[in-house]
Amino acid sequence: MYLKSLVLKGFKSFADRSVLSLEPGITAIVGPNGSGKSNISDSVLWVLGERNAKNLRGQAMEDVIFAGSSARKSVGIAEVDLVLDNTDGTLPVDYTEVAVTRRMYRSGESEYLINGALARRMDVLDILHDSGLGTGTHSIISQGSLDSILQSKPEDRRAIIEEAAGVLKHKQRKLKSQRKLEQMDVHLTRVRDVAAEVE
Ligand code: ATP
Repeated sequence: MYLKSLVLKGFKSFADRSVLSLEPGITAIVGPNGSGKSNISDSVLWVLGERNAKNLRGQAMEDVIFAGSSARKSVGIAEVDLVLDNTDGTLPVDYTEVAVTRRMYRSGESEYLINGALARRMDVLDILHDSGLGTGTHSIISQGSLDSILQSKPEDRRAIIEEAAGVLKHKQRKLKSQRKLEQMDVHLTRVRDVAAEVE
């Protein structure tokens, strides 16, 4: 799986539709200060479901919508399409290409699409769950966070390494399963109580 293309429209400084076509391997984006390099990584975080405006270097989520410049008016919608090549089947869907789209209106309303069909944020997160992509993962290291990783406590750093290595998701699943088992125990006790009452 690799990031095949990114299409930005009305997102931060990208007022016009801008298409970034990427190849497998390493891609470097270079440009002068303030030209929009970080806005590109923000768009990846955003389309993958980020809900915290601060993680996108804004005050409110509406800050992702192009706010206008001296040369042009603001727009009402921000939209990002992220296309992943899935020929190796990393993502658990029967498509060789998966396009995730997120749109946001000035009203604050956000919508997601997967391969053009309306979807919930949860569906996007579910598809990406095992891929190492998604919100809260450290596949995207923003400016400044490298310092905080280097200065973090050993146990916090271990959690980051575990997450990057894909161990954390198994730990989370284990925890989820343990919680389900505990719930089942409670239900079972309740069923036994009811059965005893009936007898
Ligand atoms: P540096 O190399 O200094 O880190 P950069 O290339 O990463 O810079 P960004 O931080 O991605 O640059 O882009 C900053 C630019 O994006 C600023 O000019 C800012 O005004 C513009 N910008 C951010 N949000 C919006 C928005 N909602 N509408 C219009 N422009 C925006």
